[in-house]
Amino acid sequence: MTLRAIQLTNTLSGKKEELKTSQPGKLTFYSCGPTVYGLIHIGNLRSALVADLFFRYFQRVGYEVIYVRNYTDVDDKIILKGHEENLLASEVAKKYTLEVEKDFAVAGLLEPTHKTTVTTHIEEIIVLIQKMIEHGNAYVADGGEVLYSISSFPTYGKLSHKRIDDLIAGIRVEVTSKKRNPLDFTLWKPAKLGEPSWDSPWSKGRPGWHIECSAMASRWLGDQIDVHHGGEDLIFPHHENEIAQSEACSGKEPFVKYWVHNAFLTLSKEKMSKSLGNVFTAREFLTRFSGEVARYLLLSVHYRSMIDFSLETVEQALNALQRIYEAKARAVELKNQSRVRSDLRAESMWGSFAASCEKARMEIDENFAHDMNTAGALAALFSLIREFNRTLAEPFAQATPSAVLAAQELIRIMEEEMGSVLGIGRLVPENALKDFGRIRASLSDIFQDSYVKEKFRERLSENAIQIAIEARIAARNAKDFAKADFIRKDLESQGVLIQDAPTGTTWQYK
Ligand code: AMP
Ligand code: ZN
Repeated sequence: MTLRAIQLTNTLSGKKEELKTSQPGKLTFYSCGPTVYGLIHIGNLRSALVADLFFRYFQRVGYEVIYVRNYTDVDDKIILKGHEENLLASEVAKKYTLEVEKDFAVAGLLEPTHKTTVTTHIEEIIVLIQKMIEHGNAYVADGGEVLYSISSFPTYGKLSHKRIDDLIAGIRVEVTSKKRNPLDFTLWKPAKLGEPSWDSPWSKGRPGWHIECSAMASRWLGDQIDVHHGGEDLIFPHHENEIAQSEACSGKEPFVKYWVHNAFLTLSKEKMSKSLGNVFTAREFLTRFSGEVARYLLLSVHYRSMIDFSLETVEQALNALQRIYEAKARAVELKNQSRVRSDLRAESMWGSFAASCEKARMEIDENFAHDMNTAGALAALFSLIREFNRTLAEPFAQATPSAVLAAQELIRIMEEEMGSVLGIGRLVPENALKDFGRIRASLSDIFQDSYVKEKFRERLSENAIQIAIEARIAARNAKDFAKADFIRKDLESQGVLIQDAPTGTTWQYK
C-alpha cells in the first residue's frame, strides 16, 4: 500500500520535509502532555488538540500509529500545590489528572495508545541515568544530585539552532550551583524532607523534568521515534535536553526524525500561561461554549501560527460552525426527501457541483498533506458550501435524483474528509444549531470587561498565600534557599509580592 505523501515542518531542520517513517506503514508519535497541578488552560488545550489532529490525520491516511502522551505527575509545582491544598503530591496529581481527562473528553480528544506517568517509570529513568553516567554524559555532584554534562554532547543546541555560548548568555547562573557548565541540567535530585522520593544509587530523590520523556519514549516507542510534538516553549530546553539524553543513552541518531511544535495561544498578544496569571481555563471554555467551538477555534488556524484569544475569535468560530451546520441541515433534508423527479437543468447544475465536490475533496487532501494546513482545507469546504447554497437556491434544482446524490456527497465530505481529521461537523445539525443559540446568548456577558478582568486575573486565596509563606519560612530555617526562592518566585508569578522585614514577612497583590 502506498501512503499519502505528507509534508511536515521539522523544527530540527527548520524546513518542510516529506514524512518517511522508519517502518513503512507504522508511525511512532510522542507528545508532551500537561503537568497536573491544576486545571489546564485553553493554551494547553490547543497543544493537546494539535497532537490529536496529527494523531487523527496519520491514522486517516493509513498509518498504524502508536501514540504516547504523558502526564507529568511529580514536580515542584505539584508539591507546592500539595502544601496549599493540604494533600500529598500524588493526590494532587491524581485529582488533576482526572480533571484534565474530563476536559479532554469534552473536547473530543481520541485516547492515545498509551497514557504514561513519571511515577510509573522511575525504574526506566534510573537505568537511563546510570547509562549516561557510564557513558561519561552525566556526573554525580555533592548530595547525590546527578547532572547531565552538556559539554559531553557536541551537538547540543541543534534543535533550537542556538550556539552554546548564546544559550549560556540567556540563562540565569545560580551562585550556589554544583554545575560544571551553567547549561548542565538535573537528571536526579535528592528529595527534601516531606517530598516524594524513590531510592536510587545516588540519593533518595526524584527525577528532573526532562528525563521523564526520554524514558517514556524509549519504553513505549523504542530508541528512535518518528514524530515528536509539543508547544514551541518546549523546544528549549526541554526537547533539546531530551535529544541530549536519548542520543547519549542509545548511541543512535536521530532520537526523533520529525519535531513538530505548535505556536502559542495568546491573550492580548501575551502568551497564555499560569505563571503570568492570564488564563482562561479549558473547563470554563468548554462549559460556557462547547467542545466543537473549542476545536474549531483552536484548530482552524494553522498549528504554527499564533492565535490571539478574544470575543472575535469565539464569534468567528461560532459563525463558521453555524455555516457548516446550516448547510448540513439543508443537505440532510434534501437527502431524505421522498418525492424525487428528474429535471434536465437540475442534472446539469448538480453535475457541475459534483465536479466541485471532487475538486474540494482534492484541495482538502492537499492542504492537510501540506504541513496540516487546516485553514486551507476549511477554505475549500466553505467554497463548496457557497456553491451548494447557490445551486440549492434555484427553484428547479431541488427534489431531483442528482440533488440527492449531491447532498450525500457534501455530507460525506463534511463528516469524513474534514470531520474525521478536525473532529467537527459530525453532530446532528438541529442539535448543533440549537446549542449555538445558547452560546450566542451568553457571549456578551462572558466578555464583559469586569467579568474578563476577574476571570483572567484569578487571585490566589489569602489562605493559600499564608501557607506558601509558612512553607518558605520553614525552607529558609532549614537553609533550603533554593526552595525558599522557588516559593517566592512562584507566588510572584501568581500575582503576589512578598517582602521580608525584621518583624516578619508581609505580602500584597501585584
Ligand atoms: P505544561 O503543563 O506547562 O507542561 O504544558 C502542556 C503543554 O501545553 C505543552 O506542550 C506546552 O508547550 C503547551 N502550552 C502551554 N502554554 C501554551 C500556550 N499559551 N499556547 C499553546 N500551547 C501552550
Ligand atoms: Zn516532554
